[in-house]
Amino acid sequence: MRFSDYERIVFFTGAGLSAESGIPTYRGKGGMWSEYDYEDYACERAFRRDPEKVWDFHDKRRAAVFACEPNDGHRIIAEVQRERPGTVVITQNIDGLHQRSGATDVIELHGSLWRVRCDREHVVRDDASVPMSPRKCSCGAYWRPDIVWFEDSLDQRNLRRAHELLESCDLVVSIGTSGVVYPAADLPRIAMRSGATSVEINLDETPVSALYQHRLRGKASEMLASMR
Ligand code: NAD
Repeated sequence: MRFSDYERIVFFTGAGLSAESGIPTYRGKGGMWSEYDYEDYACERAFRRDPEKVWDFHDKRRAAVFACEPNDGHRIIAEVQRERPGTVVITQNIDGLHQRSGATDVIELHGSLWRVRCDREHVVRDDASVPMSPRKCSCGAYWRPDIVWFEDSLDQRNLRRAHELLESCDLVVSIGTSGVVYPAADLPRIAMRSGATSVEINLDETPVSALYQHRLRGKASEMLASMR
């Protein structure tokens, strides 16, 4: 199975792809939410209660991610995208490493650590400062990280575009995702129902492994290299 056998490829990526860059995954040993309680740092209620505390936490995440580099997995995906223009990335990651590796068409289902928005003025902007400064918009309200936090809904336009792309792709490659965060976890099924070839790349079995036609067990970068 080679990328060159397909025209319209969707890479569906999760935290495991960035693990080789040194960014911790969500779940399991060393997972961020075993150390921090999301109710204090990553939900709208926490932000309303104490925006400075939430920004302190996100500044730490910005600094940690800023110090990391894209890995070979990100680079292979960006290369495939250059060679096969029908290729898109649908990611659950918020780290921006796909873009830093040169990928262009990236749907960020869960937002980005590198975007902020003002919910009072309905403005969104890119912001790569570390620490993020100033924390307030000119209207006086706090900028909010443009991230889909716990209890938030996904952006419906993003979700619609993801549906369309998955319905028309001929290969879906799911990489480094545990398949338990909904509704994102359901998306690869759309491609499967539409007849696309499906591949799961992961170190371990996941709750959705059985759905995939091909299961590659190993590090994301090595498994992607084996499909070149
Ligand atoms: P997850 O942490 O739930 O699962 C990670 C998966 O990656 C696991 O199944 C694990 O077995 C696999 N994995 C770990 N290292 C791997 C490697 N080197 N190669 C291949 N597979 C590997 O992550 P998820 O499914 O993406 O869901 C978590 C949520 O966490 C997402 O909503 C995302 O927004 C957020 N998150 C993002 C980042 C990031 O931006 N880098 C990091 C942590 C969490």
